[in-house]
Amino acid sequence: MAAQSRSSAYDCIVIGAGIQGSFTAYHLSKLRRRTLLLEQFLLPHSRGSSHGQTRITRRAYNQDFYTKMMAECYQLWAQLERESNTRLYRQTGLLLLGPEEDPEFHSTWRSLVQNRVPCQYLTAQEVQKRFPGVCLQLGEAAFIDQTAGVLYADRALRAVQDLFCSFGGAIHDGEKVVDIKPGSVVTVTTTSGVYQAKSLVITAGPWTNKLVAPLGLRLPLQTLKINVCYWKEKVPGSYGVPQNFPCFLGFHLNRAEHHIYGLPSNEYPGLIKVCYHHGNEVDPDERDREPKTPGLQEIPLLSDVIRKYLPGLEPKPAVIEHCMYTNTPDENFILDHHPSFQNIIVGAGFSGHGFKLSPVIGKILCALSLGKAPDCHMEPFRLQRFPKQLKSAL
Ligand SMILES: Cc1cc2nc3c(=O)[nH]c(=O)nc-3n(C[C@H](O)[C@H](O)[C@H](O)COP(=O)(O)OP(=O)(O)OC[C@H]3O[C@@H](n4cnc5c(N)ncnc54)[C@H](O)[C@@H]3O)c2cc1C
Repeated sequence: MAAQSRSSAYDCIVIGAGIQGSFTAYHLSKLRRRTLLLEQFLLPHSRGSSHGQTRITRRAYNQDFYTKMMAECYQLWAQLERESNTRLYRQTGLLLLGPEEDPEFHSTWRSLVQNRVPCQYLTAQEVQKRFPGVCLQLGEAAFIDQTAGVLYADRALRAVQDLFCSFGGAIHDGEKVVDIKPGSVVTVTTTSGVYQAKSLVITAGPWTNKLVAPLGLRLPLQTLKINVCYWKEKVPGSYGVPQNFPCFLGFHLNRAEHHIYGLPSNEYPGLIKVCYHHGNEVDPDERDREPKTPGLQEIPLLSDVIRKYLPGLEPKPAVIEHCMYTNTPDENFILDHHPSFQNIIVGAGFSGHGFKLSPVIGKILCALSLGKAPDCHMEPFRLQRFPKQLKSAL
């Protein structure tokens, strides 16, 4: 994957080799389109949103369109496992917890039932019997999405990139895109070369606004630094996969504003990952710099939740790693053409829940870059839902 200094003509250039750009490139090269995938850092790297060993996958969503999209995602993940001969998914189930009267709790349950997803409703007593390490509070209940589980993220990213190359695609890592010239042929300049293509897909994660601003677009994206916290089991093995401990997702636990989620012990023996689905706003180039003003204090909030809901864990994080979310105001994705340049496509704003959906997101971005209509409901992902920002851009 050496950087080269030369001009080339491609059918499509994809900027950003995170999971979304890599899946877009995979689908394009499978259709025999000459595709170049550009990445600013040497691969693999841990400075964006797609690194780390695990992600949760689930059909449980309070928006029906994601539950429906996930049906195809499961098929495409299984196909990727076969093509790469690599295990990428482990079914554990997902335990969803929250106040019985919570509207999001209700609509998520309804979406599972309406879409005939295998699921089961549990009272607090039933939860305690089945998962002794979990304590619900008064007025709370739970349900299980049985299809859910763990995706092996790093392995998946590598499998997609390797297959892309095996289909004839080219990855140039360590090449930062510094200029984009729109036109019927798009010209992309990097720190090492100049390339041309009939279409361009921008999947630059937290860096998206830095790339689209010179193209007259300012997207309503917020980049957040997420603390990825691992907590120690008091009795080793009590929250592990062999003990049938599931992934979990809490709605407003302890009145928290955002979700709290966790995965059974995997990355580090004896530690389980429990995180807050929010963080402090950062510039992606300065992710690890101390904030000037103290912002969200999510670790004490998580410690409190651990004490009450997961009493078999030490209420102090043993390891903290970092990752970034790129959020839209409604937490739905942006998958659309640039409003002025039809052959420039933007895939952004995955709002901390895009990994599981990446096989279908890649398919959608691939279709858009070929000037085709994706075979799924696109309304929730259109740029037009932010008319104010679009008006100022044009
Ligand atoms: C802590 C955490 C937990 C998560 N948990 C889940 C989960 O359980 N389930 C789930 O479905 N999703 C989850 N997500 C979300 C999911 O991981 C992201 O939605 C997804 O990884 C976003 O991928 P991306 O390709 O858009 O971004 P990225 O992975 O950030 O990729 C963008 C790439 O573009 C490159 N780039 C940027 N600018 C340039 C440039 N100028 N030139 C060249 N390259 C450039 C960057 O270096 C980067 O590699 C989680 C995310 C985090 C951070």
